[in-house]
Amino acid sequence: MEYGFEGDIRFDEPMARHTTFKVGGPADVWVRPAGNRFPEYAALLLKTAWEADIPVFILGGGANLVVSDRGIRGIVLDTGSWSGLQFDEQTVLVYGGTEVDAASEVCAQHERQGLAFLAGMPGSIGGAVWMNARCYNRSISDVLLETWILNETFQEEWIPFNAVDFDYKISPFQNRRVLILGARFKTAFQSRESLYEEMRGYRQDRESKGHYRLPSAGSAFKNNHAFGKPTGKLIDELGLRGLSIGGAKVADWHGNIIVNTGTATAQDIYLLTEELKKRVKQALGYELECEILFVGDWSGEEKRS
Ligand SMILES: Cc1cc2nc3c(=O)[nH]c(=O)nc-3n(C[C@H](O)[C@H](O)[C@H](O)COP(=O)(O)OP(=O)(O)OC[C@H]3O[C@@H](n4cnc5c(N)ncnc54)[C@H](O)[C@@H]3O)c2cc1C
Repeated sequence: MEYGFEGDIRFDEPMARHTTFKVGGPADVWVRPAGNRFPEYAALLLKTAWEADIPVFILGGGANLVVSDRGIRGIVLDTGSWSGLQFDEQTVLVYGGTEVDAASEVCAQHERQGLAFLAGMPGSIGGAVWMNARCYNRSISDVLLETWILNETFQEEWIPFNAVDFDYKISPFQNRRVLILGARFKTAFQSRESLYEEMRGYRQDRESKGHYRLPSAGSAFKNNHAFGKPTGKLIDELGLRGLSIGGAKVADWHGNIIVNTGTATAQDIYLLTEELKKRVKQALGYELECEILFVGDWSGEEKRS
């Protein structure tokens, strides 16, 4: 058997370079397999590592992550090189590492609707399916037809969409140790001009809401309809905009966005989420649930307040 490998491998790679929050200590090993043979290399890497009990963290765009200041033990498999789209008459297959914004852009170039609502959202298609990303009243599961995965036995498999497996910010892949290689979505014809206009609207809306002003991972907490209003509004009404711990701060312009003002550590962000949870619970009796994911090695002091 041949063990050839092409791609980038780095040791002690700072994860702050790979997350939109711009925090995170070193990954022991960071690997980005070459895009031309990504599924094959990824299967080889996952099989070899998992059979040797070496943890592997799958990285998309790093847009929903707070990586610990201690970093990530084991291997980070970066999917960024695995990008591309294939159209047929009614569907589009998008490779997992494709940036969602680029996917919506290429669909518009081909006069295909379906992914326009994701324009301007950071992250990859694999991450968006894993998270069941949601914006402008639509979840990615609303347009999903099937998901192409590398399953637990390192075989490629196509999983047909089944509505019962998905919910608000929930996908079935959150309970499985699988790599999302791609996803097929419904598309239909829509003129390029009207798609571009729609996408411009979403991008401008994000811009005006300050999404790109400072490093963040978007909404820090999930919304919960039982609370009667969006989480950001609850935090606003308690006067908690601007609250900060170290370099992490509740954005001055949005209660549900925590930003890195330049010097934030992962610990600062964690402690700020805990403080917000505590204050909301005390004032309103609600338990906030983080949408951002705390990953990596939190075994030390970081999570202690
Ligand atoms: C400015 C800003 C605005 C945002 N707005 C929104 C919004 O409107 N709606 C919304 O839902 N989110 C939003 N987010 C959060 C983020 O964009 C989404 O959660 C996005 O879907 C994360 O994708 P990612 O590729 O960055 O995933 P990552 O952050 O890299 O990973 C998230 C999880 O997915 C897993 N994963 C990633 N790729 C794969 C794969 N190929 N196979 C298996 N597992 C994988 C990872 O292991 C991890 O557990 C925003 C973030 C920012 C910074």
